[in-house]
Amino acid sequence: EDFTAFTEGWMRRFADAATATEAELTALDQQVGDGDFGANLVAGLQATVRRLDLPVGPPAPARSLEAAASAFLDEVGGTSGPLFGLLLQEIATAVAAARDGAPATALAAGTGNGLAAIQRVGEAAVGDKTLVDALAPASSRLDAQARAVPGDAGAALACAASAAWGGVRRTARLTARRGRASYLGDRAAGVPDPGAVGIALLFSAATSSVT
Ligand code: ADP
Ligand code: MG
Ligand code: MG
Repeated sequence: EDFTAFTEGWMRRFADAATATEAELTALDQQVGDGDFGANLVAGLQATVRRLDLPVGPPAPARSLEAAASAFLDEVGGTSGPLFGLLLQEIATAVAAARDGAPATALAAGTGNGLAAIQRVGEAAVGDKTLVDALAPASSRLDAQARAVPGDAGAALACAASAAWGGVRRTARLTARRGRASYLGDRAAGVPDPGAVGIALLFSAATSSVT
């Protein structure tokens, strides 16, 4: 019951954060890509909120995450749409499988599986200046904290958010080796990766949604 409310609040706060940050995300992707990342993220989250407002089936812990995953996978183009869809789908699957388990453990498992799925599809490594640079440290800090204190999802998510923002800061110093930013070479230096910011917003929204 509690976890059902958490995941719905999480996706709604992520939508609010993306809307509030859309102009900055657009500006970043204009500098290192084609300028559509803010619109892609907001489109996925608006489609998510439409699905949350018309829920299908009984309340369940993973339902809002599944709605978000299918919104991104079905409705969002660009490189980021399917990648965020895969991450949300893996988190949903782990949460659904661990109904009565410790939430932090399920979130850590889902995030780790989402990172693996994104790297299988996109083939980006840490250091390539993509959202992997935020997601990989978030995943490892989330996993470590969930192992230390499995009952405290808030502490685990706060660690993940802070690690993700650290990853965002590191992307500013990197030269891109994947995605459109790689066409720019050193001209993208100094600019953080917009997709990495999107990942940090996801974990910040999670942290502020824990009740
Ligand atoms: P597009 O380049 O198709 O317009 P978006 O603007 O939707 O894509 O998303 C851009 C973001 O996608 C980048 O900021 C980066 O974080 C992420 N990205 C690009 N290529 C990859 C990849 N191969 N693996 C992981 N993330 C990637
Ligand atoms: Mg783009
Ligand atoms: Mg594009």
